[in-house]
Amino acid sequence: MPTLLITGAGRGIGLEFARQYAADGWQVIATARGPSRATALQQMAAAQPTLRLEALEVTDPTSIQALAQRLKGQPLDLLINNAGIYSGTGAKQDASQTLGTLDGDAWLRVLQTNSVAPLLVTQALLDNLRLGATRTIVMISSMMGSIARTPGGTYAYRTSKAALNMAMRCLAMDLRNENFTVASFHPGWVKTDMGGSGADITPQQSVTGLRQQIASLTPRDSGSFLGYDGAKWAW
Ligand code: NDP
Repeated sequence: MPTLLITGAGRGIGLEFARQYAADGWQVIATARGPSRATALQQMAAAQPTLRLEALEVTDPTSIQALAQRLKGQPLDLLINNAGIYSGTGAKQDASQTLGTLDGDAWLRVLQTNSVAPLLVTQALLDNLRLGATRTIVMISSMMGSIARTPGGTYAYRTSKAALNMAMRCLAMDLRNENFTVASFHPGWVKTDMGGSGADITPQQSVTGLRQQIASLTPRDSGSFLGYDGAKWAW
């Protein structure tokens, strides 16, 4: 039975990943920064013996190291770096990302969560992935990180996902001789707390597509930026 670890699994796309992979028979290590607040995930874990809940605050090196210690020797076939934030202030209409009112501290919080943390989590779990059969690392990125289609604005979020894509490429190159597959995905515009109720697709549709794409990846695809529907995104 393959094993995956997913970050930010308490709600939204991460929760749906946990639900679908567990239903499909995978061993799921679903992480959340506040396990006691993640009630939907707790209920899922209680009903699914193959799903286990672990604490992980992705921006806290101590939390990352503690998780790596707890998982020492545990093979991982798939790591999904899903946890992310849209805004460093928590506001939906975020003036801190608008020219004229840009806020450096808020911007850095977004970069820390969306660009730096996925790499530090991956680095800490690399030995677990080396023990796995498929050695697959997925970054949940965004089309908003595509430099080719930039309408302007939303500086923090856009730069964070563009940086994540570059980090993903560096990782793919660094691991190319070890049979790893590393890829970034745009999950679609998804009805979650982040995407809002007016978004195009449900988490179920997004994750169904993402799982199909992830299942068809091979090491030759390493370094790709793809959509949940298989589209190839321009950098
Ligand atoms: P949500 O806001 O619904 O959920 C975000 C998840 O990330 C929550 O579980 C949250 O945990 C977790 N998280 C945030 N910061 C941290 C942290 N520091 N440590 C641990 N967990 C953290 O967002 P979505 O589900 O919509 O987004 C998931 C991913 O998909 C993100 O990377 C996002 O950028 C990307 N994406 C989403 C799109 C959309 O339309 N929804 C479009 C394109 C990309 P908590 O509950 O504790 O806050």
